[in-house]
Amino acid sequence: MQMENEMPSTLKIDLNIDKHKRPTLVIACPSCQHELTHHLETLLPDSTLNCEKCNSGIGVTRNDLLRAQDLYTRILIDDGGKT
Ligand SMILES: [Zn+2]
Repeated sequence: MQMENEMPSTLKIDLNIDKHKRPTLVIACPSCQHELTHHLETLLPDSTLNCEKCNSGIGVTRNDLLRAQDLYTRILIDDGGKT
């Protein structure tokens, strides 16, 4: 039974929305859990971010970006319902 290489480590991602409703991606470093932020709009698929704390490279895949965009859409819908 070999399931370990099925899924490359899934990043813990979250989003911050600022008052202009611009999304900032928050990524937890898999090695040290330090949180890195990057503007979602300027992040390209398959880019690598460097953790400023432990210096490891964190690969952001297209899939991670899709998840982030999905989150963003849901946050916007939520927010729209409030007003
Ligand atoms: Zn780190």
